[in-house]
Amino acid sequence: MPPKTLSPVTVGPARGDDGADEFWLDYAVKLAWSARRGGRHPFGAVVVAEDGTVLSTGENYSAPLHLSSGAPTLAKSQSQTPAVPHPLSSSLRDGTPLPPAPPLLDPAALPRDATRHAETEAVRLASARFGGDPTHPVLRSATMYVSAEPCAMCSGATYWSGIGRVVYGISEERLREITGAENVENETMTVGCRIVLQGGAKKVEVVGPKVVEGCEDVHDGFWT
Ligand SMILES: [Zn+2]
Repeated sequence: MPPKTLSPVTVGPARGDDGADEFWLDYAVKLAWSARRGGRHPFGAVVVAEDGTVLSTGENYSAPLHLSSGAPTLAKSQSQTPAVPHPLSSSLRDGTPLPPAPPLLDPAALPRDATRHAETEAVRLASARFGGDPTHPVLRSATMYVSAEPCAMCSGATYWSGIGRVVYGISEERLREITGAENVENETMTVGCRIVLQGGAKKVEVVGPKVVEGCEDVHDGFWT
């Protein structure tokens, strides 16, 4: 399957619409491809309001540029390609204005660090739009779609943000199979996100693994 290209969208299917979860998971996979094309680990996430408005997107920025021979798209010129701008909505469909994303969270303007998984990028941006308020109803009714199951860190970040639902593509266990258990570049934890989230005082709905077409292809040849 050829790489998926990213055409930024700001509004799409609402929760409960036919194919909504598949549409947004596919979008998360496109973000993962965008990260891979930038020489970064192939993970993507998007936070979507209940009415289908995009609140934030995230790509992985957690590691140095990936330089293995298995990653054919990582030529130096491509690694210097500017990051894809976040396609953020300015209002909900009913016209309710949304606060803009703080400019300091521009992903290209921040140094890489180990906590910058696609999910933490998206969670941080969505949370910041609402002043870090985990009780905000837009966040409580929002869904985070992510190309691979959130790790323990990202599950915790999602919980504390107040985002009420998570839908993920491949499982952590499957990711570990793909990367190899001994891969020092991605020493995958197999603590499922449900294990972390079920320990919380508030409920977070989890759907997955839900593998959409091409969900695993973004990892092909990357980790070996
Ligand atoms: Zn993570």
